[in-house]
Amino acid sequence: MRGFAFRSTVEEAVAWIEAVLPSFEKLPTEVVDLSDAAARVLAADVVSGVDVPSFARSMMDGYALRADETQGATPYNRLTLRVVGTCLPGTPFAGRVETGEAVRIMTGAPLPDGADAVLPVENTDHDAEQIGALDQVSVGKHVGQIGEDLRRGDVVRRAGATLRPQDLGVFSSMGCGRVTVVRRPRVRILITGNELLPAGTPPDGYRIADANGPMLTALVERDGGEPIMPGIVRDDLAALREALLEPADVVLVSGGSSVGQEDHVPRLLAEHGELAIHGIAMRPSSPTGLGRIGDRLVCLLPGNPVSCLCAYDFFAGRAIRVLAGRSPDWPYRRVRVRLSRKLVSTVGRVDYARVIVRDQEAEPLAISGASILSSTTRADGFVIIPADSEGYPPGADVDVLLYG
Ligand code: AMP
Ligand code: MG
Repeated sequence: MRGFAFRSTVEEAVAWIEAVLPSFEKLPTEVVDLSDAAARVLAADVVSGVDVPSFARSMMDGYALRADETQGATPYNRLTLRVVGTCLPGTPFAGRVETGEAVRIMTGAPLPDGADAVLPVENTDHDAEQIGALDQVSVGKHVGQIGEDLRRGDVVRRAGATLRPQDLGVFSSMGCGRVTVVRRPRVRILITGNELLPAGTPPDGYRIADANGPMLTALVERDGGEPIMPGIVRDDLAALREALLEPADVVLVSGGSSVGQEDHVPRLLAEHGELAIHGIAMRPSSPTGLGRIGDRLVCLLPGNPVSCLCAYDFFAGRAIRVLAGRSPDWPYRRVRVRLSRKLVSTVGRVDYARVIVRDQEAEPLAISGASILSSTTRADGFVIIPADSEGYPPGADVDVLLYG
């Protein structure tokens, strides 16, 4: 065992990721059904091949007629028209509306030939055979025109857009059932530690349940990656080497990232690929490593759960989001609030301080060791204290990044 002789800065670690990402980027694209397209990132513009709607349709329940025949109609000057048929959504009126005639029409039904407006039912008195028009309408009134929603050739969403539920609705309305999206980066999550029991298992003797597996799986999904979880890997050179070489775009290794007796992964990475960053001037997460092996980006995340979350968010998540076609920015909302108590930090390292936000005030958590994962569930968010800062006095305004 030996300590870290040298620690990179957070900026250097981020800069390394940014420098290598272009060589991993340009993941292949894939075509998916709309049912699988939510929250995916478009890889090509989506252009409408049709006019929507493709026919003139009624926007109201009422009567399709010729607008000029309602001129002068008021409740005191009823103009009578003969009802010659009905027009329903999906079922047009077969004939033509002639002078003195009206056709009963429902919202979404095609406007019959001869008609050029719809008189809403509330502006009529009516029986089965005839109506009295009580108001006048102008040409085109209450009629949805061809292409009013989308015109053929309209670019509906551009490449790079993250798809929202309403995008899928619009694509469907123009007859587009499949879209080309950025393939999700495959992220292999290797949980190491001989003391670990499978996630969700009651702690037993000196063995503890894997907390990082479920957390990393959810983080990867949040950031647009496709998690691959092969189960817990033994702290054993051969098993780790084999797991590191399985196909993936990104490999996250939880645990064994430091310089302890069981910490094999940094050495494996240096031997079989590149260990570019090992040891970062930050707290928690100082024993974080970054490198590559073959065409995989490898992030060595400390096993302590808070460190694991913090290192994921500072480095791995950023890389996965970029590979998934998203913004590298923190996926957390920021609020500016006053500190209720002082927040101390050591010059020369970045601190990740969990805080509770209450009544526009941020209160630093008293218990905040790297192994206390519940500090992240008690907290509402965290403050990043830059390396050149000694911290903040009570009453200082700070930016809090709020957990999801
Ligand atoms: P390591 O980074 O492997 O040196 O582990 C540091 C600490 O985190 C040790 O106390 C481990 O037992 C604990 N730890 C490692 N991996 C996990 C995990 N997946 N879930 C919960 N605790 C872990
Ligand atoms: Mg370990």
